[in-house]
Amino acid sequence: MTSIRFPQLGLAPAPLFEEMEAARRNDVDWRRGRVALYVHYAGDDVLDVAKEAYQRFFSENGLGLKAFPSLRKFEDEIIAWTADLLDAGLDATGVVTSGGTESIFLAMKTARDWARAERPQAKEPEVVVPVSAHPAFDKAAHYLCMKVRRVPVGADFRADVPAMAAAIAPNTVMLVGSAPSFPYGVIDGIPALGALARERGLWLHVDACVGGFLSPFVRRLGYAIPPYDFSVEGVRSMSADLHKYGFTAKGASVLLLASRSLRSYLTFEFDNWPRGKYSVATFAGSRPGGAIAAAWAVMRYLGIEGYMRLAKSIMEARDRLVRGIAEIPGLYIIGTPDLSVIGVGGTGLDIFAVGEQMERRGWFVSTMSDPPGIHLGMLTLAHVAHLDEYLRHLAASAGEVRAQNLKANSHEASYGG
Ligand SMILES: *Cc1c(COP(=O)(O)O)cnc(C)c1O
Repeated sequence: MTSIRFPQLGLAPAPLFEEMEAARRNDVDWRRGRVALYVHYAGDDVLDVAKEAYQRFFSENGLGLKAFPSLRKFEDEIIAWTADLLDAGLDATGVVTSGGTESIFLAMKTARDWARAERPQAKEPEVVVPVSAHPAFDKAAHYLCMKVRRVPVGADFRADVPAMAAAIAPNTVMLVGSAPSFPYGVIDGIPALGALARERGLWLHVDACVGGFLSPFVRRLGYAIPPYDFSVEGVRSMSADLHKYGFTAKGASVLLLASRSLRSYLTFEFDNWPRGKYSVATFAGSRPGGAIAAAWAVMRYLGIEGYMRLAKSIMEARDRLVRGIAEIPGLYIIGTPDLSVIGVGGTGLDIFAVGEQMERRGWFVSTMSDPPGIHLGMLTLAHVAHLDEYLRHLAASAGEVRAQNLKANSHEASYGG
């Protein structure tokens, strides 16, 4: 810790904001498509709607839905609309959370408490997931005193369902599939997982954090999207992030449960203190009204038509990128991505060195470890105008690495931080 003291005197807005703008001087320029992660841009019109709605409900608190019927309406409609998109029946229920991590945490908590009632023989509850599942499952397991078994994926990078079946133990309570997985961008075989879950009496969670608000529209455009939602029997819960391809402000995701009867396992209730009964479905207590309001506003502003228009741009960009990369000697697309999450591997060259050459050219590069690759996690409208430049730089970088047999300074892949 440096010896920075809390300032005695306040600072006027003008110099204060000047200091903040100066602080962001070295931030990655996402508007110029320099980063394919963290920011989901759908155009300034969408951004303006989200900001306006966030500001109007800046002070309101989602902990107090009785005080703010507006937020209750927004949350109810967000959940109903999401249930409609993901083919959940009328009996479905859900909650707006702060993000994918919280949605996954709550799905695991709900499954754990359901298992305590329905599968009491599972004393130390375990979850079987493909190795490609998000770290949020292990993070939640850590907090919830559960255990995660990670099972290698198949040659197509999708969940190896027979191997997952073999990993089921007496303590197993839950199976997980991703739609799609973040490392490989492929949708796991949800129908096979659903059949397995039903046969073994297990909870199946589908993690559609990245694809939940993209797949429904990509499918409507005519792309082949395998079954992944509540239309598959056996799916009991799904996570879908509004702050990714829902294009709203960060701090918004949806957890859906297949049936209202499961809701009691989600909600936390407490009455042993002097202030009265506390009953909340989320991990968070106070919740930003702005995040809920902005999510509602963007969904209402875009409608299915608006999301389809955005999905079309994104998938066309994906197709251009895939075609362009296929033409660069030494590079290949890892697996067959179902949506817009793409890994780029190298043959006969050090792909991490290509990444470092791209960083030298001003791109913020994410990498993956298995197989080694450059990871393009979240293509959005910020990238469309810069695709040709990206491909030109990528070809030049790969060319340099090949010609000079360059090796990377670091072969460590990391996510976040
Ligand atoms: C982003 C993501 C998460 C975690 O979501 P956060 O909003 O970052 O907490 C979980 N699963 C998948 C597949 C994701 O892409």
